[in-house]
Amino acid sequence: MQAFRVLLLLTAPFMVATALAQDFSAQPSVWSARPDIAAFDKSENAQLAAAQRAIDALVAVKGPRTIENTLAVYDEAVRHINSALYLASVIEQVHPDTAFRNKATAMISKSSAVQTALSLNPDAYKALAHLDLGGADAATRYYMQRQLLEFRLSGVDRDDATRARLKKLQDELTNEQSAFGRNISDDEKNVELKDRSELEGLPQDYIERHKAGADGKTLISTTYPDYYPVMKFAKSDALRRRILIAFYNRAYPKNAEVLKKMMQTRYEIATVLGFSSWADYSAKDKMIGSGANIATFINDLATTTRPIAERETAMLLTEKQKIHPGAKDIWDYESSYYPELVRRAKFDFDSQSVRPYFPYKQVEQGILDTAAKLFHVTFRQEANAPAWDPSVETWDVLDNGKPVGRFYLDMHPRPGKYSHAAMYPVLDGIRGKQLPEAALLCNFPAPTADDPGLMEIGDVTTFFHEFGHLMHHILGGQQRWAGISGISMEADFVEAPSQMLEEVIHSPAVLAGFARHYQTGQPIPVELVTRMNRASAFRRAGNVATQDAYSAISYDVYKSNPAGIDVDQVAQEDMRRYTPLQLTPGTHFYAAFNHLAGYSSAYYTYMWDDVIALDFYAQFDVGNPFTGDTAMRYRHAVLEPGGSMSANDLVKAFLGRPQNMVAFKRWMGEEFATSTAKAQ
Ligand SMILES: [Zn+2]
Repeated sequence: MQAFRVLLLLTAPFMVATALAQDFSAQPSVWSARPDIAAFDKSENAQLAAAQRAIDALVAVKGPRTIENTLAVYDEAVRHINSALYLASVIEQVHPDTAFRNKATAMISKSSAVQTALSLNPDAYKALAHLDLGGADAATRYYMQRQLLEFRLSGVDRDDATRARLKKLQDELTNEQSAFGRNISDDEKNVELKDRSELEGLPQDYIERHKAGADGKTLISTTYPDYYPVMKFAKSDALRRRILIAFYNRAYPKNAEVLKKMMQTRYEIATVLGFSSWADYSAKDKMIGSGANIATFINDLATTTRPIAERETAMLLTEKQKIHPGAKDIWDYESSYYPELVRRAKFDFDSQSVRPYFPYKQVEQGILDTAAKLFHVTFRQEANAPAWDPSVETWDVLDNGKPVGRFYLDMHPRPGKYSHAAMYPVLDGIRGKQLPEAALLCNFPAPTADDPGLMEIGDVTTFFHEFGHLMHHILGGQQRWAGISGISMEADFVEAPSQMLEEVIHSPAVLAGFARHYQTGQPIPVELVTRMNRASAFRRAGNVATQDAYSAISYDVYKSNPAGIDVDQVAQEDMRRYTPLQLTPGTHFYAAFNHLAGYSSAYYTYMWDDVIALDFYAQFDVGNPFTGDTAMRYRHAVLEPGGSMSANDLVKAFLGRPQNMVAFKRWMGEEFATSTAKAQ
């Protein structure tokens, strides 16, 4: 069974100086002053003090509320708070000095507290609610509608007693969420090998890393680098089964209790605010709109997925029967192992064979060239620009020669640095006032004098994904207001532009631009791309089925009064209903399903955005996405609006209709496509 997906984007919302003109000569980079801890602390506090002055000015207005004396002042507060929060969030993840990172963590808490206080400030709410929007443009009216909704969802318009109760419930929820996460990270388990032969099938470097201890015992832990290779490669059914049982009992039974409390707390928050369930409450400010729509989406997805997933399962079973004649089912502890065997046997693809075509520097240039060609922008590296680490590159984005944004590429591992991949906003773009900035934080192999830093295809995909977020934040960062700039929008849309850009790497025309063998300079053979694409398509439907089951669990535990919900039963039934797998008894994987704390009922977001992304990409010539004006239409309709209109409307603006599952279905079954010409 595959992992829960991680949202590779920080949605939590600096700068040293405010630029007054849209020109980089007037907007120095956020690190241009090379701050030490004291200077960083000072500039962050200056941002928060400016935000507080704006909030005080906002509530002090006498007389009619206008866009200038109210909304413009409110948005200044938003801009300053975001600037403080964004920079502290990046620095917490990247600064080489631990003390600096600790200071950043403290500034995140401080900025978040200011943000929360503003969201619960009834005077600020009343000021915006009394705003005269006559003559305001559509984006401004939409901004106010969203802000007032968010204020009401926080309960700011309720009486003092209700607000006090909501505050208490929110504090409880925060504690329950952090307990849920802590219980997972604190409960690392170990499985002992019965015999070294159980490691058969695993890569040699893995076997060498797992030597027997002085007591003769070899332990395999439930950490990801230990667990996933066993599930994929270990020939021993018994080992895979034992480690799955350990993995699926992390944080159990502790988190069964914590989850029950979280469900109850969330139900109370929702009902106090007049909603019948947490799922309905949580969906209110999202594209999907209601809990019932989540249920419909999960069912539609299941109907679309099932026939393809069954076809894949039949192939897995055929492979299994070579080893276990007469086998009738695929078990959860076999669900990563047999796909690997099928990929090798049926699709003749070894992922190591493409790495020589992807040395890091060539990939970086290739991504910049691809984005430049698609979106008609140019990228210019700032020479000798100071950043938090000497390895960080600073780039300007230009549109028709005019600067429209800046980004930082912090792409290789360092001790103490963030260990995943994400796009972090650094500054909101405000037309005529402030250029958007963002940082990509990744952990790709660094090129050295004798090693070009060869990347896995999965790493190349991740780079395109994160660059999709970056283009969205920069090109969507030309708004009148900070609060609707870039990716400040419905939370269940933000993964669509990133997932869309991932798709372009399946195009031979895109790969031809940069995938060249690091020794011979030969372009990647089209035949190899075709095999790679077919192999990577295998088991998409099975993975979607599992993601759909997780979405169903995430919805079902929050869809009603939790009094009557048996979580173990819900989890088992949803897995059985949506996936073709047999489940190992005695497991409670939901106890370590951390999204139940953070995403709550919105796990569907991943699949929802996959459906949209694939529908978007189907509008392109998938063989050569540079063809025609589709990419520019996409830039104008989807990326440039940022959060200035509803995501449902910008989907319709680009597609001419709401999204549907036609392209998604074709993508799921691509390994069965008869014509290789159509293989993307
Ligand atoms: Zn992402």
